[in-house]
Amino acid sequence: MKPKANPVSATENRPEPLQLSLLNDFLYCRRRAALKLIEGWREANEHTVLGELIHEHADFAGYEVAKGVLVWRALPIWSDRLGLSGKCDIVEAEFISASNSASEISKLKFLKPVEYKKGKRRRFSNDDAQLCAQALCLEEMFGIPIERGAIFHAESKRRREVEFTPELRAMTEQAIADLHVLLGQSQVPGSIPQLPRALYRPACEECSLFEICMPKAIENEQATSRHAKRLYEI
Ligand code: SF4
Repeated sequence: MKPKANPVSATENRPEPLQLSLLNDFLYCRRRAALKLIEGWREANEHTVLGELIHEHADFAGYEVAKGVLVWRALPIWSDRLGLSGKCDIVEAEFISASNSASEISKLKFLKPVEYKKGKRRRFSNDDAQLCAQALCLEEMFGIPIERGAIFHAESKRRREVEFTPELRAMTEQAIADLHVLLGQSQVPGSIPQLPRALYRPACEECSLFEICMPKAIENEQATSRHAKRLYEI
């Protein structure tokens, strides 16, 4: 079925909010988010390319009705309260009346964000927080509570349900607040923002900014300067 044009679009003249996808980077590694946010680095590797390929279908904006459920693709979302904007890969919607028309937003009964991820079915808290942030945006936009969403894992072609518990909501909102602090620090005139320290771990091997970040070399440098400092403190 050919998707129709999206009836919902972001309003104009809104202050520049944070990109929702940065939240995932931030929870994966604060240094990675800072390298993107402060220094503007954007590098691709096999993992990012694969992720983009998986998102290709979901990036085709529009909507369709499947099995009585309205499915929005690439839906623009935002939250004025959280200073956030982005896009949902998929939002599933049901309406109080049987018509399931995308123009009957006032009759919404149920909304569920679905995020596409490469790889097998595995739980990552950064993915859950990204999905939860999408739900927080949708709740503000549509004024209805959203209890759960789902991550679609492309490699295993399986969905993982995510419940938006009070703990996940609190963790997500705290991370968004911390990300705003990082952004604020990067915008103080005349100041040179400090990048968070590099801490090498296995996840670094999949990071597209590995060559720029050089976590092994930087970590050694940090350790050397710590040891040198200690020598002079004694
Ligand atoms: S290489 Fe590791 S420390 Fe550096 S930005 Fe990526 S995940 Fe963070």
